[in-house]
Amino acid sequence: MKFYSLNKEAADVSFKKAVINGIAPDRGLYFPRDIKPLSSSFFENIEDQTDHDIAFKAIEQFVSESIPENKLKEILTSVLDFPFPVIELEKNVATLELFHGPTLAFKDVGARFMAHCLGYFLENQNSEVTVLVATSGDTGGAVANGFLGVQGVKVVILYPSGKVSDIQERQLTTLGQNITALEVNGNFDDCQNMVKTAFLDSDLKSEIQLTSANSINVARWLPQMFYFLFAYKKLKNKEQPIVFSVPSGNFGNICAGMVAQKLGLPVAHFIAATNVNDTVPLFMRTQEYSPKMSKATISNAMDVGDPSNFIRIRNLYKNNFTELKNHLSSYSFTDEETKHAILSVYNSCNYITDPHGAVGYLGLKEYQKDKSDTFGVFLETAHPVKFLDVVEETLKLKLPIPSQIQNVLEKNKVSIKIDTYDELKSYLLNK
Ligand SMILES: *Cc1c(COP(=O)(O)O)cnc(C)c1O
Repeated sequence: MKFYSLNKEAADVSFKKAVINGIAPDRGLYFPRDIKPLSSSFFENIEDQTDHDIAFKAIEQFVSESIPENKLKEILTSVLDFPFPVIELEKNVATLELFHGPTLAFKDVGARFMAHCLGYFLENQNSEVTVLVATSGDTGGAVANGFLGVQGVKVVILYPSGKVSDIQERQLTTLGQNITALEVNGNFDDCQNMVKTAFLDSDLKSEIQLTSANSINVARWLPQMFYFLFAYKKLKNKEQPIVFSVPSGNFGNICAGMVAQKLGLPVAHFIAATNVNDTVPLFMRTQEYSPKMSKATISNAMDVGDPSNFIRIRNLYKNNFTELKNHLSSYSFTDEETKHAILSVYNSCNYITDPHGAVGYLGLKEYQKDKSDTFGVFLETAHPVKFLDVVEETLKLKLPIPSQIQNVLEKNKVSIKIDTYDELKSYLLNK
């Protein structure tokens, strides 16, 4: 299968080329040429298949030109080595826990899948690729962990000094080897701008091969469709139509769910739940897309004012607003509402949500006000311990620290402080 650029000026490329480029030369996002539905028997017999088989069948058509069957199976086996539990909390409400990976964030699956693909593409080659990524918190840790020790890949992570949690900072500054953390004197937007500038810099382009590990990269984005298939496997016997509520920032995760629906997954509706960064909820009301500066919230991995994957979603529905509205609803919530949800879910179900999952829960409840006959699944995208301060303060309790986190807390932080783009550039060129 070929991938084309949504800006429609660059040439079609293979999966391999799309992964190495990250973004197309015309600055467009890559998108699969066509999406062939899986057979109806695949869904009828989904409960008889392992997660590895399901994932293989779902992603095969997109990558088979670039990765042979055996290698793909091997990659999926090492990427998907932790569980994805579905826990029913209330009548017609369940949560899909995506935080059992090595960095306790749902981004682990995409980051590890991309790392394995890139590692395979660079095997026995003399070339080296530099993965450049800006993080507001969770992406950096998942990418650092996924790419650690991958031959031929250097990872450079930019994060805003003093603006990520202690746990998040340790996760991206303590690994060493091929991972370097650059601590930027500025905010997340400054980091993001430096990365964007680097991708456009022709001096850099002639010296090094740069790619991105944000969800614009197809290898990070597409494997997220597995979550929705795995959840369906567990919920297939429900009588009601199934809906998913996805806490959304860059809209990569929910877009991957919509690709799963195009593969034939029986999903009645998607709900995109956001914090006060409400560009998409506003668009769904007004049909006008107006990107904004991001605002800081307690669900900081979703502080995005111009979600990069929304263009992929619009494209999935052929830019037809009525079609889109039939499949997607979107609501936004304040930090106060989010804390209130963390508290009420804890009090009524004895379940601890993180601020992102709590936003997903709120989106689901809002949708079910009208559609009480649906069975709703909200995605829990991070372990509550990653947002320790907010959760402990809201619930007035102490959370136990899991061993994955305990390990990084014992290691020493190593970072390089930078102030300007020129410092980033000379760092990259001196390698
Ligand atoms: C990245 C992230 C999100 C948002 O996912 P998108 O695919 O960018 O919409 C939600 N929750 C957590 C914890 C995240 O790290």
